[in-house]
Amino acid sequence: MTPRPHAYAAVPDSTWSDWRWQQQQRVTTLQALERVLRLTEDERAAIEATADRFRMAVTPYYLSLVHPEDPACPIRRQAIPSLAELRRSPGERDDPLAEEAHSPVPGLTHRYPDRALLYATHNCAMYCRFCTRKRKVSDPTSALARSERDQALDHIRRTPAIREVIISGGDPLSLSTERLAELLDALAAIPHVEIARLGTRNLVTLPQRVDAELADMLRAHQTRHLAVWVMTHFNHPTECTEEAWTACERLAGSGAPIQNQMVLLRGINDATETVIALNRRLLRMRVKPYYILQADMAEGIGHFRTPLTAGVALLRGLRGHVSGLAVPQLVLDLPGGGGKVPLVPRYLEREHAEGWDFANYRGEPFRYVEPGRVASLDAEGD
Ligand SMILES: *Cc1c(COP(=O)(O)O)cnc(C)c1O
Ligand code: SF4
Repeated sequence: MTPRPHAYAAVPDSTWSDWRWQQQQRVTTLQALERVLRLTEDERAAIEATADRFRMAVTPYYLSLVHPEDPACPIRRQAIPSLAELRRSPGERDDPLAEEAHSPVPGLTHRYPDRALLYATHNCAMYCRFCTRKRKVSDPTSALARSERDQALDHIRRTPAIREVIISGGDPLSLSTERLAELLDALAAIPHVEIARLGTRNLVTLPQRVDAELADMLRAHQTRHLAVWVMTHFNHPTECTEEAWTACERLAGSGAPIQNQMVLLRGINDATETVIALNRRLLRMRVKPYYILQADMAEGIGHFRTPLTAGVALLRGLRGHVSGLAVPQLVLDLPGGGGKVPLVPRYLEREHAEGWDFANYRGEPFRYVEPGRVASLDAEGD
């Protein structure tokens, strides 16, 4: 088990491992946080100054991963507010991906023909400081009423092109296992829905949430009519703890394939070695690195954004150098709701009369000859 901060030394193991306790004991105030960590002036000021924009909540478990002294700790920067969140850079928006504009009914974004994204709840175990959906997430007034959820399900029912429903939020594991089961039952009853994708960060911020009851429920919903996939969100190798490993084992055991979507964050995971370490750990935990997401142009997260070229350079450091299983796609979600596009390092150098010139992963030149472009050798020989 991950060693705990001094403030939690007296908590019995069984209590610490209880997700309900972790959930209830989330640290949400400056006073409570100061009992666990020594804060910087910036953090202290930021907790008050950002409270009404995007509240703070961190599970004791996630706090136990924070370096007690280092203000640049990659775990700490994901969880604890900084004054940089108050800055707004040119072009940044409240809803950078125009998710509301592509929302045919409240609680649903339908951007691509065959899949729709359902906002099941506005709650998360932890509020990540870099969250793209700050405008909704953690805001109780944006919670989806049952009637709205029913409207969203109606839209899915009426739209046979939707084969896949991404259950997002917030974090759907903030719902009770029973509510989640109801939602999966509702999807399972729609003949054209083949896949339910559960997008959750609980494996990272509250892995205890994946208890036997949840795993049993998911196993029971894994059928030939509806496959349940889990999309998770590890950003740093430090997050791959024993507890997280156990949670992934339980989920994998329930039959769900698990994919990781990492958000590229400046100073946190923008070094090639960090991503290699993370992805190798994830593969051992039976989690496939799926996407590296370029940070969106959302308000108040400019300090986390990296230049596009940095992500492409990072990716170049993966392909060929490590197992292909550890190489995800780097994607940019186009501002204004254009959808995701891949950002790919250039390996194709130029076209020539016979075919194409490439540089391999080491930068060495190779030529590919297309069929039919060169006069046949037999003909020349005659
Ligand atoms: C990212 C996203 C999806 C899923 O995209 P994939 O490329 O299939 O993973 C679906 N809908 C919306 C609105 C999204 O932002
Ligand atoms: S878990 Fe996801 S939705 Fe919730 S705050 Fe973190 S990034 Fe945002």
